[in-house]
Formats: sequence, structure tokens, C-alpha cells
Amino acid sequence: MGYPVTYYCPHCEALVELEREGYLADKAVTPFPFEGWRYVAPDEPFEDREDVDGVRFVCGEDGTLKNDGEGCGETFYLSFVKFEDGRELDPRTPSEQVEIAGEGPRSTRGPTGPGGPSGSGGPGGFW
Ligand SMILES: [Zn+2]
Repeated sequence: MGYPVTYYCPHCEALVELEREGYLADKAVTPFPFEGWRYVAPDEPFEDREDVDGVRFVCGEDGTLKNDGEGCGETFYLSFVKFEDGRELDPRTPSEQVEIAGEGPRSTRGPTGPGGPSGSGGPGGFW
């Protein structure tokens, strides 16, 4: 029935394969989930589900790796195109500030010296 579709892990570019029925359009593969999208594991049904908007991969750990390999163990997300009231939702426009896990803490961005944190943008600061 279905056919295999392959995707690249956005972290390590390993190739994963997913069996698809083909009537849901892919929107994006991203290292973070879209806000408002609901994801399931690749071995759960997703294409005939009203309440599923994407698939959550765990690179190398969910059995989807196409070639022999380790995977990087990071999660990434296949998001389907989603409509609401007849309009396509695009989660990428509202904010680019979705946190990307594994990129390292932002707070190591250099001490600002004795003046203390200038505190422009960024919650907290020092504590
Ligand atoms: Zn990976």
C-alpha cells in the first residue's frame, strides 16, 4: 500500500525511511517541533489520524535508519502541512526563536565584564 519516503536527519544527515500512504503533504523536517503540531512515533499510525500532524524521529533509535549506522540520537520532526479554516498554517513565520536543543547554552556568550549584563533581550541574566 504505502511506499517508502526518505528524510535526512537535520543533525547528522543520516537517512531515515518512513512508510507513507502519500496523501498527506510534507511541510518540513526540522530539529524542533512546530508549536501546535502533534507528533507521534514513526511506528504509530499517523496518516489517518485527525489529531496527528507529524512524526517525531529519534535518530538511530526508532528503527527508521535506512542504512546501517549509528544515528546521532537526536530527535527531529517531520511536519505535515496543516490547514485551519482552509488556510495553510505556517509556523515558521511567527517566530524563529524556537529553542534548538543541543546547540549549547546561549548564556556562554561571553561575560560582559564588570559592567554586568546589559540585559537587552534575554530573560534573567546573572543569578
Ligand atoms: Zn541524526
